[in-house]
Amino acid sequence: MIKIQISKTLQGKIRKGYPWVFNYQIQNQIIEAEPENLGVIYDHNNRFLAMGLWDPSADLCFRVLGLGKPQKVNVDFFLKRLQAAKVIRERLEHQGTTGYRVINGENDGFPGLVLDRYAETLVIKLYTSSWFPFLNELCELFQKELSSKQVVLRLAQNISNSLEPDSAYRDGQVLYGSENSSWVEFKENGLKFLADVVKGQKTGFFLDQRENRLKILGMVKGRSVLNVFSYSGGFSVYAVAGGCKSVVEVDSNPFALKTSLRNLQLNFPDKSFPSPNFMQEEGDAFQILAKMKSEKRSFDLVILDPPAFARNKKQKAQALEAYVRLAKAGAQVASKMLFAASCTRHVQANEFYDAVCLGIRSAGIKYEGIAKTGHAQDHPATFSEAFYLKSAYFNVGRHGHK
Ligand code: SAH
Repeated sequence: MIKIQISKTLQGKIRKGYPWVFNYQIQNQIIEAEPENLGVIYDHNNRFLAMGLWDPSADLCFRVLGLGKPQKVNVDFFLKRLQAAKVIRERLEHQGTTGYRVINGENDGFPGLVLDRYAETLVIKLYTSSWFPFLNELCELFQKELSSKQVVLRLAQNISNSLEPDSAYRDGQVLYGSENSSWVEFKENGLKFLADVVKGQKTGFFLDQRENRLKILGMVKGRSVLNVFSYSGGFSVYAVAGGCKSVVEVDSNPFALKTSLRNLQLNFPDKSFPSPNFMQEEGDAFQILAKMKSEKRSFDLVILDPPAFARNKKQKAQALEAYVRLAKAGAQVASKMLFAASCTRHVQANEFYDAVCLGIRSAGIKYEGIAKTGHAQDHPATFSEAFYLKSAYFNVGRHGHK
């Protein structure tokens, strides 16, 4: 086990539930045995404070697993946490949702580990290789407790990049079950979707937008919708289910656009996609929005759900500037409503909201904020960095007030 020392201020934060220690915050480390994947923090009085996953190769080198007293990290320890996590999600299956997050990392007591369920397939996504020594027992536990037929492993880019050539694990590996196809079908609020759990973004689908999609479904009847950054068509499927007049999707990834067509066909087999009421435009969103404006095209509702614009704190200013530009470009082609989302961790909710308002204002368009939302309920957040998804709804144009 490794023993680490940190400042009194950070000790206080950790005691209150903050789960991370970064490399630069470590004052001293004493290796009492061969360094392994677990570590402990002692406070300034040399009392046990926390135990956690230790990964000296990462900037985020310590993730808290438990506070107060030492505990055995074994199957029982994991089982209790998994059971608590299951309770929070119980309701979802009754609502026709079989694709959801079962474990949301630190917020469910599994720091740096996400477990997503897609019907009978489970996807474990790791953000630290410190989980590798536990992976066998976790896979077995998850598979049994959640009675699944397949367990797939996904690795965050930084882990994939630094894998040893003889590593027992790789991104996209099937840990349990048969590798017939990387595509799985699941449901969200009764609507059907396909996700590529081996190669798709995140674990295959953006499960965090489920509640926003449902909200959009209720807003679109008879309306034209522009879905920018549409990925596999999550918002589009809900919009069609909500009786919208038309949808135009914009995404730079042709593979994502193709998947969206499959998802629409799956839900609405009597309609055809693409069609005059369902078109796709492949390319850069900023360029396409500018072109649409110059052609004086407009849509009742514009959805802006871009990828993260900042990978680290240094890129925050440039991310905010991009949100302003995007909101401006979106508002210029929106005639009634605008929905804008941000999944950039380094941008706070109020900063994002202000950037979007500034963007709409700078287009000379009146607006009225009507709702602010975050990620879906199966993505609980117990510390500030975990509230990564911010979103806001606006009335714009003649419908706005300001
Ligand atoms: N709204 C989606 C998730 C969006 S993820 C959902 O509900 O599932 C972000 C998407 O933006 C990805 O599909 C990616 O291909 C696309 N993208 C990234 N940069 C882009 C750009 N400059 N222009 C258009 N699309 C882009």
